[in-house]
Amino acid sequence: MQIDLHVHTSTLSSDSNIAPETTIDLARARGLDGVVLTEHDRIWPWATLAKLSAAADFLVLPGVEITTDLGHVLAFGLRELPPGVSSARALRQHCDDEGALMYLAHPARNGSVPVRPEELVELFDGVEGINGSDGPLQNQASGRAGLSCRLPAIAGSDSHTQHEVGLAATRFPQSITAIEDLLEALRSGNYQPLAL
Ligand SMILES: [Zn+2]
Ligand SMILES: [Zn+2]
Repeated sequence: MQIDLHVHTSTLSSDSNIAPETTIDLARARGLDGVVLTEHDRIWPWATLAKLSAAADFLVLPGVEITTDLGHVLAFGLRELPPGVSSARALRQHCDDEGALMYLAHPARNGSVPVRPEELVELFDGVEGINGSDGPLQNQASGRAGLSCRLPAIAGSDSHTQHEVGLAATRFPQSITAIEDLLEALRSGNYQPLAL
């Protein structure tokens, strides 16, 4: 299955101009099997997304992109954020408490990776090795940062507009139908980041 793990919609991300229903239509048309909505510092109620997913007959799962002291962080498996959390270390603790996973988003967007390798390994389950909104050089540097720490790399489009949906996705060998499946698949490390 190919799932875009990094998507913003206009409902909860003020910098996106694409409605969730449109995102789903485009993702389906572009051959994806699912999307994860990762709004900036806001998490969709899981029940709302389940309804959206059922109505569209398309896999839509909850995630979040959190602004932290170490940059943007993608987290999967959280139902809510601690109020005002901005420390990646505090977020790591929260993710551990909740059984959630966290990945450094677009690590090399600004040219170099702003996190030391030891910190990467200590605090993150992996890196976003391919971000659909970054260029090839940025993605190569992001991929290298993960490889050098032996951290797995995920991929997502980081779409905020219609043309960006599905520019990158993560391919999983198994069927994923719920957030628990996604977490298990991510924990296995057996997946492949794709630029599409
Ligand atoms: Zn970001
Ligand atoms: Zn983003």
